[in-house]
Amino acid sequence: MTNRTCQVCAKAIPSSRRAHSRYCSNSCYMIAKKQRAVLDYGSKKDLLNGFKKNERLLAQFYPLSESKKSISYDTLNALGFDWGISQNEKQDVNKNIWKGIGQYYYFINPDKTISIWKDSILLQKK
Ligand SMILES: [Zn+2]
Repeated sequence: MTNRTCQVCAKAIPSSRRAHSRYCSNSCYMIAKKQRAVLDYGSKKDLLNGFKKNERLLAQFYPLSESKKSISYDTLNALGFDWGISQNEKQDVNKNIWKGIGQYYYFINPDKTISIWKDSILLQKK
């Protein structure tokens, strides 16, 4: 079996530490905790910016969708829409899953056009 080493300073973890401890001392634990908090903050900020950008784009394109003009996946993609993030999902009567961001929901149609709805209009709201 290999000796456990501290994730912060790489020293061996004394056997007096808890069996699952990843740090050699409380001070290393505190350092790791601090680093993690900084990382968490950074990623939350990125996520928030992504949400804001997505919502802005949906707000911008919603009037087009409302007037039945088609919005292409590529257009939103080119503008930096982040398809990987959404706040929630809803299913409509046709079993399509709509992704929600802010007050908007979008759905990628099989022909790669995008439909956008405002929350208040979507069916099956709980
Ligand atoms: Zn250490």
